[in-house]
Amino acid sequence: MSYVKGLKCRECHRLYPTQALYVCEFCFGSLEVDYDYDKIKSQLSREKIERGPKSIWRYRDLLPIDGEPTVGPHAGFTPLIKADNLARVLGIKELYIKDDSVCHPTLSFKDRVVAVALTKAKELGFKTVACASTGNLAGSVSAQSALAGLNRFIFIPADLELGKVVGALIYAPNLVAVEGNYDDVNRLCAEIASRYRWAFVNINIRPYYAEGSKTYGYEVMEQLGWKTPKHIVVPVASGSLLVKIWKAFNEFKKLGLIDEVDSKIYAAQAEGCSPVTAAFREKSEIIKPVKPKTIAKSLAIGNPADGIYALDAMKQSGGSAESVTDEEIVEGIKLLARTQGIFTETAGGVTVATTKKLIEKGVIPKNESCVICITGNGLKTQEAVSDHIGKPYRIKASMDSFEKTLRHESKITEDVWQSK
Ligand SMILES: *Cc1c(COP(=O)(O)O)cnc(C)c1O
Repeated sequence: MSYVKGLKCRECHRLYPTQALYVCEFCFGSLEVDYDYDKIKSQLSREKIERGPKSIWRYRDLLPIDGEPTVGPHAGFTPLIKADNLARVLGIKELYIKDDSVCHPTLSFKDRVVAVALTKAKELGFKTVACASTGNLAGSVSAQSALAGLNRFIFIPADLELGKVVGALIYAPNLVAVEGNYDDVNRLCAEIASRYRWAFVNINIRPYYAEGSKTYGYEVMEQLGWKTPKHIVVPVASGSLLVKIWKAFNEFKKLGLIDEVDSKIYAAQAEGCSPVTAAFREKSEIIKPVKPKTIAKSLAIGNPADGIYALDAMKQSGGSAESVTDEEIVEGIKLLARTQGIFTETAGGVTVATTKKLIEKGVIPKNESCVICITGNGLKTQEAVSDHIGKPYRIKASMDSFEKTLRHESKITEDVWQSK
């Protein structure tokens, strides 16, 4: 049972069948899944969702699959953590972390989108799947297609972090490291996708793939007690996650599952790759492509496909965009770890540092509530922080060496040595 009416051009609103299509033949606008919301509204309720599985599939009625989900049974339903320690440091009244860096099989929010994309690819009869990745998508497609028994081609920029390369290769895909940046990889993949009839999850399957990101937004609302967050800070690569969180909020309103959308949405980018933030600052409707140069490689998309829609969502919500330097990203990662015990990757460093900046500038008022989106795990980008976290104390295996090194020669204060 599906409530999908078809695909619809985001620009000229022409309709298309639910096939592996992603661009309008007439105006080259991108295609989006269109649902029968009246029908959904007549049978969907908070209670029905609450009775569903503890995964993204509790929102199945709002996802573009026809049959039962066949891939990614455990994607989603990650914790929303009240981050009191970090709130105190940032000086804000109420702060939450939506933590997609844990619980997921490949430790990033990409397990959501891939679960939807591969379930759809199987429904459409594809035997081979592929993707163009900035890192996390590579791991997720590799892992989930291994379990689903699909052939796979994974394309990445050749300079990715070791954790991302190992995190894909271990599942034995055909991993292709392209000499170039993500935008080069993506251009090549669009060409390959038109020659070989594979399901490219973020190219010809993109309309379905992108819908998976809505579940991040649905969960935030459900976990806050069926309401939108007052402020939400979202990392932006292609812009898809931000756009879909905004769509999720508005769908819940349309379906009567929440009373109102009272939320400002903010884009977080690295200064070395901030085309969306730049366009927002210049009040431009056009995204000028940039050549990425940042440690936040998972967000390093210089020509973001959904950039203009992300701008739209920020404007509609009354939010804005900000960017941070590589040093601020490292500080953001360390701050989250130190205060909340969460080790996030560079993208998370971007959102934490951006949130800090937005609060300092008074854009997010200190007496209000904010959600920070943490989307990936720090163990995959260790090289970003390994030179910035000090070293272990090295001692001989003796009490003497322990006390000499730690008690007498270190800066550890006296009170730490008391047991209570
Ligand atoms: C892919 C990714 C994002 C966001 O990507 P969009 O293309 O903007 O949807 C955010 N964080 C991490 C860690 C990612 O891997």
